[in-house]
Amino acid sequence: MDNNIFYIDGEELNLFCSDDSKRHTFGYAYEWEGEGVIHLRFTPLNHSFGKCFHVLFTKDQDVELSQGEIVAKVHNNTNVEIFYKSDYSYKAEIIPSKDSLYSRNKGILELNILENKRVMIVGLGSFGSQISIELAKAGVGHFVLMDFDRVELHNLARHTSTVNDLGRLKTDVISDAVKGKNPYAEVEKFPINIIDYPEILKEQCAKADIVICATDNNRSRFVLSEQLVSLGKTGIFGRAITRAEGGDVFIYRPGGPCYCCLIGNGWYEAAREEITNEVSARRDGRIAAYVSPEDADAMVQVGLSADIEPMCNMMIKLALVELSRGSESGIKSLEKEFVAPYYIWVNRRERKYGNWGCFANPGHMPTIMRWYGVDVDRDEGCSLCGSHIRLDVGESFTDEYGNIATNVNIDESFDFDKFNKK
Ligand SMILES: [Zn+2]
Repeated sequence: MDNNIFYIDGEELNLFCSDDSKRHTFGYAYEWEGEGVIHLRFTPLNHSFGKCFHVLFTKDQDVELSQGEIVAKVHNNTNVEIFYKSDYSYKAEIIPSKDSLYSRNKGILELNILENKRVMIVGLGSFGSQISIELAKAGVGHFVLMDFDRVELHNLARHTSTVNDLGRLKTDVISDAVKGKNPYAEVEKFPINIIDYPEILKEQCAKADIVICATDNNRSRFVLSEQLVSLGKTGIFGRAITRAEGGDVFIYRPGGPCYCCLIGNGWYEAAREEITNEVSARRDGRIAAYVSPEDADAMVQVGLSADIEPMCNMMIKLALVELSRGSESGIKSLEKEFVAPYYIWVNRRERKYGNWGCFANPGHMPTIMRWYGVDVDRDEGCSLCGSHIRLDVGESFTDEYGNIATNVNIDESFDFDKFNKK
């Protein structure tokens, strides 16, 4: 006789038990083959691996048990007896229903204050995938996921997806992962490029409690930043720089400096930003069209997953602090700590950080593996939040430094002749 463990979804079981018009119904059994673990569902799972077969759920205790099929005799919503392969019966484990999953004393989801919060995550790469799942673990109840990419082989080393997810839309993969942590989370998926859908971007931004910007290029950050400023929403930006030798995290709080105040109107910082994907970098101009495939290959410089963890962690912490602001939570004390808008982290003393202090003996110098909060002033000439006139040129243009911009400031230094030549 095999020793099997059976699980039943408590919420589905409650529905079946309370429906007096139904004596029987067919459902689905998913077996982790060779592991002796079988999950029983009344409705099919979005699940394509492993063996799946039918199960009969019944409230009638004298129903005939046929060989090779699973029969689940439902005594009540806490007692289900399973008959599988032989007459030997198993008692099913019941996966907690929504009420107990959210109740504090069960301790499964820690922060029930986050159940009603809505988080929008733009970009589901190595940053966004991890942040989504951590926020689900913390108890966030509503997610809006935006990314038009599919999982590719080169993603696997740093992404939460597995080899079994190859080819799937990242919105689907992360939606499943979020629901795997919190089955009652509500997830809306948008497999779109936000640059092509400004109306959707605006609508969703307006509904979100916080926006996580985890895209890999400044153009999309700029577009998002524009919405945050005009709608007065809080947003968190994060990125790694070349080969993830370090990274930075920026939080926009309404009224404070915006992402554009930080990086300026051009895209000067983009050049040293980590390039993780040639297609994406070519699309937004960080790898120019004339660069050969061989040279482009050398420009794609990916750091270790462990080296992007600190930035992900900071983004998650900042998000949780903002989402639980004003309520009693275990992280309340952090409100007084995270007052700066900008945070810098360095993993290795290389190139730009070559003159930083040695971790073992830093003197007065900053060192690797420590967060530094930085004050950033609002830029009155900022094209997004500044008071000067801004011209939206619609189509992007390339400036004299080879940087791409869609907006220019009109002030005394603006050279119309130069602009018209482009
Ligand atoms: Zn600004």
